Amino acid sequence: MMEIQITCPHCGSSIEVLPNQSASKVECDVCKYVVDVKFTENHEAGILKECPTCSRMDFYKQKDFNRKIGVSLFVLAAILSIWTYGLSLVALYLVDLFLFRKLAMVSICYKCRTNFRKIKNIDEIRDYDHEMNDRIVYSDHDFKGKPLSH
Ligand SMILES: [Zn+2]
Ligand SMILES: [Zn+2]
Repeated sequence: MMEIQITCPHCGSSIEVLPNQSASKVECDVCKYVVDVKFTENHEAGILKECPTCSRMDFYKQKDFNRKIGVSLFVLAAILSIWTYGLSLVALYLVDLFLFRKLAMVSICYKCRTNFRKIKNIDEIRDYDHEMNDRIVYSDHDFKGKPLSH
């Protein structure tokens, strides 16, 4: 099931939700701010086409650096590297290459920074584009899910 992490527009806390078509509002645990959400069949099926909070269709993907496991593995490898002459970091790089590249990708909405995990159509989501980000964030441009064209 797709996991969604909304950033509360009021206090910046993250709100974890699972897609559910019957839910139209999500409340922030911290400040009680209510965020309107709109889930579709796609969301429930793990397919990301439209953002449930801002209804934009522009997303980018990146490796999920937030995963605690990744961080603790890195710390462990860094400590071990003192005795293994850096080999543990090489090992971590390989683990990262084969394991995390596929498993831990997160897709993020350019407009409202909602994070989406475990989505099925991650291959359709493009990498971060600096120019698209600037145009969406600063000029409120809507690409409607299409790539940037010059
Ligand atoms: Zn809040
Ligand atoms: Zn959004």
